Amino acid sequence: MNNNFLKEIEPGSIIGILGGGQLGRMTVEAASKLGYQCHVFCQSEEEPAAQISRKVTVASFEDQKSLESFASSIDIVTLEFENIPLDSVKFIESFVPVRPNSKILSIVQNRINEKKFISNLNIKTAPFIEVPEKSFLFEAAAQIGAPAVLKTASMGYDGKGQVLINKNTDLELAWEESGASPKTNGAILEGFISFKKEISVIAGRSTDGSVTSYVPVENFHVDHILDQTLAPANITHKQSIQAIEIAHQLIIELDVVGLLAVEMFINTGGDILVNEVAARPHNSGHWTIEACNISQFELLVRAICGLPLGSTERNSDARMKNLLGEEINRYHDFLTDPSAHVHFYGKSEAKSGRKMGHVNWLSPKSIK
Ligand code: AMP
Repeated sequence: MNNNFLKEIEPGSIIGILGGGQLGRMTVEAASKLGYQCHVFCQSEEEPAAQISRKVTVASFEDQKSLESFASSIDIVTLEFENIPLDSVKFIESFVPVRPNSKILSIVQNRINEKKFISNLNIKTAPFIEVPEKSFLFEAAAQIGAPAVLKTASMGYDGKGQVLINKNTDLELAWEESGASPKTNGAILEGFISFKKEISVIAGRSTDGSVTSYVPVENFHVDHILDQTLAPANITHKQSIQAIEIAHQLIIELDVVGLLAVEMFINTGGDILVNEVAARPHNSGHWTIEACNISQFELLVRAICGLPLGSTERNSDARMKNLLGEEINRYHDFLTDPSAHVHFYGKSEAKSGRKMGHVNWLSPKSIK
């Protein structure tokens, strides 16, 4: 099926969402603002998106019967995380358009495919070598040099499946620690980038090929997990233009209908290197909910439904702080702060590092 046909999915239609996390939840909120209903396919009724969706299917992503009845109840499908089995997405695609489609997913859910795709476009990345099995790691480590980062090719997120490799690291142990296996399609070894800044750009593309994006933002991680985002990023005008151009080039070349979040490093020489991409809403775009007329979630809905994308201009600068794990227990502080825009995801257990909510603060718009 041609996934990019121009038929508009009118408000009032039903949007299917694969995955029930907070990104799905905020997509449900945005969809409902535009008059759509949602049907969430997830693993538990307690998941953040399931709690507020009109319809919910709780089933395994491998359950074909459930996938088929889900697909027959909706007009369009999107996904809120990458680690959905590719075959399941292909199966759903035989009934209803999936945006972004399985071809894109097959690239972005595997770091090796992703890095090859990006570097084939002559966009800079960290140096990398494919490590299909443990026995390849020794030669790869010798070639890349230290320090390096070993990452599982698929199934990793928030630093999970990543190990830093130094000169004296026991490579056998590092392989075990990363959790790399045939299930993760092996691993990738990347040169360590001593970056000055981490930035990201979120772009949106509609069924007619029109593209837009938000201003580049600056991201601050703690233990590999995003802690805060500053919008806009404190970078030069030239770097900002270049980062946006990279994001636009990638969303067009990948032929995404929906969103593409592009995470980038700025190295000590001022060059921009792409770290990874995500074809879905991104944590570094949560500030757009209050700071822009159209949030990243509304942009996703507009894009996949073939509606006009509208304006991604920001009305103010912003700072977003994730509430990770026990930080959610400070909720009174945030609720009493008159300038805080508070979002809680409805998760019951505040496990360490778990994204429980976020807070946005707005400030007058700077010139950049
Ligand atoms: P990722 O899962 O690839 O987004 O990695 C999570 C975080 O680990 C990034 O945001 C960086 O802070 C760090 N990181 C990942 N890859 C590299 C690299 N090649 N060099 C330096 N830091 C990295």
